[in-house]
Parts: sequence; C-alpha cells; structure tokens
Amino acid sequence: MVRVYSGILRGLDARLLTVEVDTDSRSFGFYLVGLADHAVREGQLRIQTAIRNAGYSLPRCRHMINLAPADLRKEGAAYDLTIALGMLAEAGYLNGTTLSEYLVMGELSLDGRIKGVRGILSVMELAAKHQYKGVIMPLDNAPEAVLHPEILALPFESLHEVMVFFREGQPISSLRAIDCPPPRRSETRPKVEWSQIKGQALAKRALRIAAVGRHNVLLIGPPGCGKTMLAHSLAGLMPPLTGTDKRIQSQLQSILSGGLEFRNPAEQIPFRKPHHTITVQAMVGGGQWPIPGEVSLAHGGVLFLDELPEFRREVLEALREPLEQGQVVLNRQRLSAVYPAKFVLIAAMNPCPCGYYGSADERCTCAVNSVTRYQRQISGPLLDRMDLVVCMDRVKTSEWKLSSTEVEVPMPASELSIEPPTGIAQDDQSLEQSLDPACRQILDQMMEQGGLSMRAIYRLLRVALTIAEIEKASGLLPEHLMEAYHFRHPRMLTSPSRQDQPQNPLLS
Ligand SMILES: [Zn+2]
Repeated sequence: MVRVYSGILRGLDARLLTVEVDTDSRSFGFYLVGLADHAVREGQLRIQTAIRNAGYSLPRCRHMINLAPADLRKEGAAYDLTIALGMLAEAGYLNGTTLSEYLVMGELSLDGRIKGVRGILSVMELAAKHQYKGVIMPLDNAPEAVLHPEILALPFESLHEVMVFFREGQPISSLRAIDCPPPRRSETRPKVEWSQIKGQALAKRALRIAAVGRHNVLLIGPPGCGKTMLAHSLAGLMPPLTGTDKRIQSQLQSILSGGLEFRNPAEQIPFRKPHHTITVQAMVGGGQWPIPGEVSLAHGGVLFLDELPEFRREVLEALREPLEQGQVVLNRQRLSAVYPAKFVLIAAMNPCPCGYYGSADERCTCAVNSVTRYQRQISGPLLDRMDLVVCMDRVKTSEWKLSSTEVEVPMPASELSIEPPTGIAQDDQSLEQSLDPACRQILDQMMEQGGLSMRAIYRLLRVALTIAEIEKASGLLPEHLMEAYHFRHPRMLTSPSRQDQPQNPLLS
C-alpha cells in the first residue's frame, strides 16, 4: 500500500489529507472511499485516462483508494494528481517513500496536463507546519508560490513531467529556480487627500478616531455633503498592514483565483465597496465550496457600505457575526470553513428617501412614517455596532472660506497604533471597573439617560480610550467619555450649542 499526502482547504487553513492506494490482483475495478463528492468520484475516469495518455499502463486489478480523514467532505478535482501518483507508485513506477515526503495537489485533464487549484498558499503553509520537503503543484500556481519562499515549490505542467522528476531524480535546484515572473499586483487606488475635503471637522474627527481605534462609523447627511469622499479617505488614515494581514490577503487571493490570474494584493490597506445589490453569499462568503466574501477581502482594512438602507436586510444582519467575532464561519454539510474578517465598517446614508430630513438648507418632503420606515432598515443591533455616528450637512460658504486657509494635517500613519494606551485594561469588564469616580459617575448618568445596551456601553468605553490615546492622556478622563457619548447620541448632549442639531429619530 502507498500513502500520498495533500491538503484539504477549510477556509483559510488547509488540513492534512492522506490518500491510501492499494491493489488486489484477485479482482477488478476502481473503488474510491472516504466521503468524496461526485467531482472526486468522476475523477476516476479522468485519472485513468490521464495516466494512459502520459504513457503508463496500470495493471488489471482492483484499485482501492481511501481518502482520510473520512469525516471531512472532500470536494473538487484538486486531488486528481495525488491519486494518480499514488496509483503509479503502487504499480511500481515510482518510489512511494520518496513521494510521501511531499504534499501533492493538482487537477488533471484527460491528456495528462495539470490544471491550477485553489488555495496553494494555504497548502504551502501546511507543508511548512508539518515539515514536508516541498509541494508538488500545477505550474499555473507558480506565481503564487513565489510568495512563500520558505517552502520548496515544485510546479509542473504535466503528469509526465512529474514522473520524469521522480524517476530520473532531476536535481531539485534547477526546478527551484523556476523562471517565474513575480505576481502582478492589483491596481492601486487613487488616494483621497483630506485637503480636498472642505469643512466637515466633526466627520474628520470621527474618522481619525475610527482609524486609530478601528471603530465603525456611520455618516448621515443629505446628498452632496461629502460622505462618500470622506469614507474613501479612511483607508489612508489607517496604519499599514501587518505582515500577518498581508499574508492573509495573499492566501485569500490564492483561494479565489484557483491558479488563474492570481494577483498579489496591493500593498495598500484593503478598501472594499460592495454595491447595495450584493447577496449574503458575496458579502460574507459561501457557496457549495465556501469561498471568502467581501468582509474577508476587507480584512485589515475598510468595508464601505454606501446607501446603507438600500442593502438587503439579510445582508446587513449577516454582518453582525464578523463585526463581533472578527471572522466568518461558513457551515455546509460536514464542511465548515473559517475566514478572517476583521475590518472597520464605514457606512453612509441619507437621513430619509428625499435626503433632506433634518437638513438646514432644504426642506424634507417625506411623510413622517416614510422617514421612520427608511431608517428602520438599519436594525438596532447593527446600529449598536456603529461606534461613531456623525450627522453631516452641506458645507456652508463661510466654512469653505475657512477651510481654504486651514491646513489639515492628517495624523501620519506611522504614529498611529491600534493598541490601547498601556496601563488601561483591555478587557471590557475590568475596563469598566477600573474607571475613576468622576468617569464612573458620568458613565452611570449615560446609562440612566441614554438607554444604551451593555454592548453599546462597552463599545463607547473603547472609543473613549482611543480618544484618550489621541489626546496623549495618561488615563481616561470624563471629557473623553463625553466625546464618545456625543458620537453615539449627538442630539442628547446638554451643551446649548447643540440644541439646533438636526433631530434624527435614528438616534433617539
Ligand atoms: Zn425626506
């Protein structure tokens, strides 16, 4: 019996798959066991034809192939090459022990060519973890493989080439230096400079807090007040991607591309802006063979939802899990995939269907209940997770004049840190308990008056901590709490200057 190894993708990570091949000369046939889906089972004909067309003949006997572990569903044709090499080793064409030192992945076409597969970078991570010598893979996947130089990638175009490698012991060094252009990068986005955005000091303050502490933002205001432009500027304010997040983005692209048109993600912070017609599956990921969605592609960066109430209710509700957990778990029959999804959500909306509810310059023509209905598209639990809510109006001419002389200096990304200030507890409950008496009193008042849920309170505390960090304070002060509260409940601040704040039932 021969054992060959491969990787099964379970979301971002791959798990070890063992293919056992055995033959019995007393009977005849081809048996594949171990919970394989029909694509794997259909593979038997493809694999046998590919082997024949590569110039090898298998003995007439019973071929028994077992894919283990049996409790994991295996899908697709990505194990064709693994099975074919196992059968050839069992038939004596190559050394099974040498073969077992590698992970093998690749789909076969009838003529013996090897086609690209999804997620080769995840399989390479697996090979590194279990100290395999290298990964036998399709040539199509080579552009991705160069991103993981620590593990030996052996890309081949055909089954015949793999056999030559194993039989003639072609020196690995010549294959290691494969002539492979570095992967193309995704196009970079134009940068939105803050100096292009006039006025809107409050919204800018909110974005700065959001970028430092990775808090979610909701911008509400009439059409043309600059919501979209502000949202686009958020990614530029965030600290650069960490090495881990860059690797995750490459792995996600490797899973999505399947060896075709792989593009190394741009060095920029991810900024995803799905259209409001998006489905739940495209947003959070899924499918029979779960692939990552927008929330994962936004990992480490920004997810921008423009015209928030236009999104399907179920799409918005599906965001709750990633917003809370920082990941998505996709469950299909006996197959579950986990994808990271830690992003900053920024959403923009008009306050009502006509867009002018609460606006200082134009009258809203909507009936009261249509305004309410419009705003109820955003559920309470989702609204709870919007840490910074900003009501915007169109910039007045006086503000324009002011901002032409005003020098806006966004905080340089290198100075930003996402860690809370040292000495302040990160854990929600201990954070609440560590408040000094003055802050405690203010928080109690907020809880009494504001009708805030416990979740909202903890989120408010985290925003206040970020503000304390931006202000370089040694600890949390009542003013930090007040500012955080103001962003949750702009209308409820007692300051007289706020009394003319546009009323917004969304916030009451
Ligand atoms: Zn209106």
